[in-house]
Amino acid sequence: MISNAFCMSIKNVFKIITHIVWIILLTALTQVGGFIWVLTLILCKLKQWKKRYVFIALYLLFNAVIIPPIANYFGRVRLPISKQGLKCKNITYPILFRNYVKPKLKKLLEDSALSLIEQDNIKITYLDANFPFYDGFPLLPHRSHNDGKKIDICFMYKTKNGLSTNKKPSISGYGVYVKKENIATKNCIEKGYWQYDFPKYLTLGTINNLDFDANATKKIITTFLSKSATQKIFIEPYLKTELKLNRYNKIRFHGCKAVRHDDHIHLQIK
Ligand SMILES: [Zn+2]
Repeated sequence: MISNAFCMSIKNVFKIITHIVWIILLTALTQVGGFIWVLTLILCKLKQWKKRYVFIALYLLFNAVIIPPIANYFGRVRLPISKQGLKCKNITYPILFRNYVKPKLKKLLEDSALSLIEQDNIKITYLDANFPFYDGFPLLPHRSHNDGKKIDICFMYKTKNGLSTNKKPSISGYGVYVKKENIATKNCIEKGYWQYDFPKYLTLGTINNLDFDANATKKIITTFLSKSATQKIFIEPYLKTELKLNRYNKIRFHGCKAVRHDDHIHLQIK
Protein backbone atom coordinates (compact mmCIF):
# COMPACT_ATOMS: atom_id res chain seq x y z
CA MET A 1 0.00 0.00 0.00
CA ILE A 2 2.80 2.37 0.99
CA SER A 3 4.69 1.68 -2.20
CA ASN A 4 1.49 2.21 -4.26
CA ALA A 5 0.87 5.59 -2.64
CA PHE A 6 4.54 6.48 -3.12
CA CYS A 7 4.37 5.51 -6.79
CA MET A 8 1.23 7.63 -7.26
CA SER A 9 2.82 10.69 -5.71
CA ILE A 10 6.00 10.26 -7.79
CA LYS A 11 3.77 9.96 -10.87
CA ASN A 12 1.91 13.15 -9.94
CA VAL A 13 5.13 15.08 -9.33
CA PHE A 14 6.44 13.89 -12.69
CA LYS A 15 3.17 14.97 -14.35
CA ILE A 16 3.35 18.44 -12.80
CA ILE A 17 7.01 18.87 -13.84
CA THR A 18 6.14 17.80 -17.41
CA HIS A 19 3.36 20.39 -17.55
CA ILE A 20 5.65 23.13 -16.19
CA VAL A 21 8.40 22.32 -18.73
CA TRP A 22 5.81 22.28 -21.54
CA ILE A 23 4.36 25.63 -20.41
CA ILE A 24 7.85 27.20 -20.30
CA LEU A 25 8.68 25.83 -23.76
CA LEU A 26 5.41 27.06 -25.27
CA THR A 27 5.85 30.47 -23.66
CA ALA A 28 9.43 30.80 -24.92
CA LEU A 29 8.43 29.76 -28.44
CA THR A 30 5.10 31.58 -28.84
CA GLN A 31 4.60 33.86 -25.80
CA VAL A 32 0.89 32.97 -25.40
CA GLY A 33 1.02 29.19 -25.98
CA GLY A 34 1.82 28.46 -22.31
CA PHE A 35 -1.27 30.37 -21.21
CA ILE A 36 -3.38 28.48 -23.78
CA TRP A 37 -2.08 25.17 -22.36
CA VAL A 38 -3.07 26.23 -18.82
CA LEU A 39 -6.53 27.12 -20.13
CA THR A 40 -6.69 23.71 -21.83
CA LEU A 41 -5.84 21.93 -18.57
CA ILE A 42 -8.56 23.82 -16.69
CA LEU A 43 -11.20 23.12 -19.36
CA CYS A 44 -10.29 19.45 -19.62
CA LYS A 45 -10.42 19.08 -15.83
CA LEU A 46 -13.95 20.49 -15.85
CA LYS A 47 -15.28 18.74 -18.95
CA GLN A 48 -13.15 15.59 -19.36
CA TRP A 49 -12.34 16.55 -22.95
CA LYS A 50 -9.25 15.33 -24.79
CA LYS A 51 -6.41 17.78 -24.15
CA ARG A 52 -4.74 17.66 -27.54
CA TYR A 53 -7.94 18.53 -29.48
CA VAL A 54 -8.93 21.28 -27.06
CA PHE A 55 -5.41 22.76 -27.20
CA ILE A 56 -5.31 22.80 -31.01
CA ALA A 57 -8.80 24.36 -31.24
CA LEU A 58 -8.02 26.99 -28.60
CA TYR A 59 -4.60 27.73 -30.09
CA LEU A 60 -6.04 28.38 -33.56
CA LEU A 61 -8.88 30.46 -32.09
CA PHE A 62 -6.43 32.59 -30.11
CA ASN A 63 -4.08 32.89 -33.08
CA ALA A 64 -6.67 33.93 -35.64
CA VAL A 65 -9.35 35.72 -33.63
CA ILE A 66 -8.63 36.53 -29.99
CA ILE A 67 -5.03 37.78 -29.81
CA PRO A 68 -4.92 40.26 -32.77
CA PRO A 69 -7.47 42.77 -31.34
CA ILE A 70 -5.96 42.53 -27.84
CA ALA A 71 -2.46 43.10 -29.27
CA ASN A 72 -3.83 46.09 -31.25
CA TYR A 73 -5.13 47.57 -28.03
CA PHE A 74 -1.63 47.28 -26.53
CA GLY A 75 0.03 48.82 -29.61
CA ARG A 76 1.10 45.94 -31.84
CA VAL A 77 -0.39 44.72 -35.09
CA ARG A 78 -0.15 41.44 -36.94
CA LEU A 79 1.62 41.25 -40.29
CA PRO A 80 -0.31 39.56 -43.12
CA ILE A 81 0.60 36.04 -44.22
CA SER A 82 0.75 37.38 -47.79
CA LYS A 83 -0.51 40.69 -49.13
CA GLN A 84 0.58 43.02 -51.94
CA GLY A 85 4.24 42.10 -52.07
CA LEU A 86 4.69 41.39 -48.36
CA LYS A 87 4.70 37.79 -47.18
CA CYS A 88 6.04 35.51 -44.46
CA LYS A 89 8.80 33.06 -45.31
CA ASN A 90 6.51 30.29 -44.16
CA ILE A 91 3.34 29.90 -42.15
CA THR A 92 5.29 28.90 -39.02
CA TYR A 93 6.06 32.53 -38.17
CA PRO A 94 2.38 33.63 -37.94
CA ILE A 95 1.36 30.33 -36.33
CA LEU A 96 3.93 30.88 -33.57
CA PHE A 97 2.73 34.48 -32.96
CA ARG A 98 6.10 35.81 -34.20
CA ASN A 99 4.69 38.28 -36.74
CA TYR A 100 3.68 41.25 -34.56
CA VAL A 101 5.10 44.78 -34.97
CA LYS A 102 4.31 48.40 -34.11
CA PRO A 103 1.84 49.97 -36.60
CA LYS A 104 4.62 52.30 -37.82
CA LEU A 105 6.78 49.33 -38.83
CA LYS A 106 3.84 47.64 -40.55
CA LYS A 107 3.22 50.79 -42.58
CA LEU A 108 6.90 51.04 -43.54
CA LEU A 109 6.86 47.42 -44.72
CA GLU A 110 3.59 47.77 -46.64
CA ASP A 111 4.69 51.00 -48.35
CA SER A 112 8.07 49.48 -49.24
CA ALA A 113 6.44 46.27 -50.50
CA LEU A 114 4.04 48.17 -52.71
CA SER A 115 6.77 50.18 -54.44
CA LEU A 116 9.11 47.17 -54.79
CA ILE A 117 6.45 44.90 -56.29
CA GLU A 118 5.23 47.59 -58.70
CA GLN A 119 8.64 48.79 -59.86
CA ASP A 120 10.83 45.68 -59.67
CA ASN A 121 8.54 42.69 -59.02
CA ILE A 122 10.39 42.11 -55.76
CA LYS A 123 8.48 40.65 -52.80
CA ILE A 124 9.49 41.41 -49.22
CA THR A 125 9.69 38.12 -47.34
CA TYR A 126 9.75 38.48 -43.58
CA LEU A 127 11.10 36.15 -40.90
CA ASP A 128 10.98 36.70 -37.13
CA ALA A 129 9.37 39.97 -36.03
CA ASN A 130 8.11 40.27 -32.42
CA PHE A 131 5.55 38.69 -30.09
CA PRO A 132 2.15 40.36 -29.55
CA PHE A 133 2.74 41.78 -26.07
CA TYR A 134 4.99 43.45 -23.56
CA ASP A 135 8.16 45.45 -24.31
CA GLY A 136 11.19 43.57 -23.05
CA PHE A 137 9.79 40.05 -23.57
CA PRO A 138 12.50 38.35 -25.66
CA LEU A 139 11.76 36.56 -28.90
CA LEU A 140 14.40 33.86 -28.67
CA PRO A 141 17.01 33.36 -30.01
CA HIS A 142 17.13 37.06 -30.94
CA ARG A 143 18.71 39.58 -28.61
CA SER A 144 16.59 42.58 -29.49
CA HIS A 145 13.26 41.60 -31.06
CA ASN A 146 11.38 42.60 -27.92
CA ASP A 147 9.56 45.89 -28.54
CA GLY A 148 7.69 45.63 -31.83
CA LYS A 149 10.28 47.72 -33.64
CA LYS A 150 12.44 44.99 -35.20
CA ILE A 151 12.04 42.52 -38.01
CA ASP A 152 14.23 40.21 -40.09
CA ILE A 153 13.87 40.20 -43.86
CA CYS A 154 15.11 37.60 -46.35
CA PHE A 155 17.73 38.42 -48.95
CA MET A 156 16.82 38.07 -52.63
CA TYR A 157 18.18 35.25 -54.80
CA LYS A 158 18.44 34.18 -58.42
CA THR A 159 18.49 30.80 -60.09
CA LYS A 160 21.66 29.23 -61.51
CA ASN A 161 20.45 30.56 -64.90
CA GLY A 162 20.52 34.09 -63.53
CA LEU A 163 16.73 34.49 -63.32
CA SER A 164 15.28 36.50 -60.44
CA THR A 165 13.16 34.50 -58.01
CA ASN A 166 11.31 35.03 -54.76
CA LYS A 167 12.38 31.56 -53.58
CA LYS A 168 14.87 31.25 -50.71
CA PRO A 169 17.61 28.68 -50.14
CA SER A 170 16.56 27.40 -46.69
CA ILE A 171 13.28 26.28 -45.11
CA SER A 172 13.53 28.62 -42.12
CA GLY A 173 14.91 31.53 -44.17
CA TYR A 174 17.98 31.69 -41.91
CA GLY A 175 21.40 30.09 -42.02
CA VAL A 176 22.51 30.07 -45.68
CA TYR A 177 25.30 32.63 -45.89
CA VAL A 178 26.36 34.59 -48.95
CA LYS A 179 29.98 33.62 -48.26
CA LYS A 180 31.01 30.85 -45.91
CA GLU A 181 33.85 32.83 -44.40
CA ASN A 182 34.33 36.51 -43.79
CA ILE A 183 36.56 38.67 -41.65
CA ALA A 184 33.94 39.81 -39.10
CA THR A 185 32.92 36.22 -38.40
CA LYS A 186 36.54 35.15 -38.03
CA ASN A 187 37.26 38.03 -35.63
CA CYS A 188 34.17 37.42 -33.51
CA ILE A 189 34.80 33.68 -33.20
CA GLU A 190 38.45 34.32 -32.31
CA LYS A 191 37.26 36.66 -29.53
CA GLY A 192 35.22 33.76 -28.11
CA TYR A 193 31.78 34.68 -29.44
CA TRP A 194 30.98 31.14 -30.57
CA GLN A 195 27.28 31.99 -31.15
CA TYR A 196 28.17 34.39 -33.98
CA ASP A 197 28.14 31.55 -36.51
CA PHE A 198 25.16 29.77 -34.93
CA PRO A 199 22.47 30.52 -37.61
CA LYS A 200 23.99 27.82 -39.82
CA TYR A 201 22.19 25.34 -37.53
CA LEU A 202 18.84 27.07 -38.04
CA THR A 203 18.17 26.34 -41.72
CA LEU A 204 15.78 23.42 -40.95
CA GLY A 205 17.06 22.09 -44.28
CA THR A 206 18.14 23.66 -47.55
CA ILE A 207 15.65 23.44 -50.41
CA ASN A 208 16.75 25.55 -53.37
CA ASN A 209 20.17 25.86 -54.92
CA LEU A 210 20.24 29.60 -55.54
CA ASP A 211 22.71 32.46 -55.89
CA PHE A 212 22.58 35.68 -53.92
CA ASP A 213 20.90 38.47 -55.92
CA ALA A 214 22.95 41.53 -54.97
CA ASN A 215 20.93 44.04 -57.04
CA ALA A 216 17.51 43.00 -55.78
CA THR A 217 18.72 42.77 -52.18
CA LYS A 218 20.25 46.23 -52.48
CA LYS A 219 16.92 47.56 -53.79
CA ILE A 220 15.14 46.27 -50.67
CA ILE A 221 17.77 47.85 -48.40
CA THR A 222 17.75 51.23 -50.17
CA THR A 223 13.94 51.26 -50.11
CA PHE A 224 14.04 50.81 -46.32
CA LEU A 225 16.74 53.51 -46.10
CA SER A 226 14.50 55.94 -47.99
CA LYS A 227 11.89 55.77 -45.20
CA SER A 228 12.30 58.28 -42.37
CA ALA A 229 11.07 55.75 -39.77
CA THR A 230 14.07 53.47 -40.40
CA GLN A 231 16.56 53.71 -37.55
CA LYS A 232 19.10 50.96 -38.25
CA ILE A 233 19.77 48.12 -40.62
CA PHE A 234 22.17 45.31 -39.83
CA ILE A 235 24.00 43.39 -42.52
CA GLU A 236 27.47 41.88 -42.44
CA PRO A 237 30.18 44.58 -43.01
CA TYR A 238 31.59 42.89 -46.15
CA LEU A 239 28.12 43.01 -47.75
CA LYS A 240 27.78 46.70 -46.97
CA THR A 241 31.00 47.25 -48.93
CA GLU A 242 30.20 44.85 -51.77
CA LEU A 243 26.73 46.32 -52.24
CA LYS A 244 28.31 49.81 -52.32
CA LEU A 245 26.29 51.01 -49.35
CA ASN A 246 29.17 52.46 -47.32
CA ARG A 247 27.80 56.00 -47.45
CA TYR A 248 24.72 55.01 -45.41
CA ASN A 249 25.42 55.32 -41.71
CA LYS A 250 22.07 53.77 -40.82
CA ILE A 251 23.63 50.46 -41.86
CA ARG A 252 25.63 49.36 -38.85
CA PHE A 253 27.69 46.48 -37.61
CA HIS A 254 25.63 44.61 -35.01
CA GLY A 255 28.63 43.54 -32.91
CA CYS A 256 30.02 40.16 -31.96
CA LYS A 257 27.37 39.53 -29.29
CA ALA A 258 24.77 39.14 -32.06
CA VAL A 259 24.89 36.59 -34.89
CA ARG A 260 25.96 36.81 -38.53
CA HIS A 261 23.86 38.94 -40.81
CA ASP A 262 24.87 37.61 -44.20
CA ASP A 263 21.80 35.41 -44.39
CA HIS A 264 19.16 38.09 -43.72
CA ILE A 265 18.55 41.83 -43.18
CA HIS A 266 17.70 43.11 -39.71
CA LEU A 267 15.53 46.22 -39.86
CA GLN A 268 14.56 48.38 -36.92
CA ILE A 269 12.58 51.58 -36.62
CA LYS A 270 12.90 54.61 -34.32
ZN1 LIG B 1 16.90 40.73 -36.28
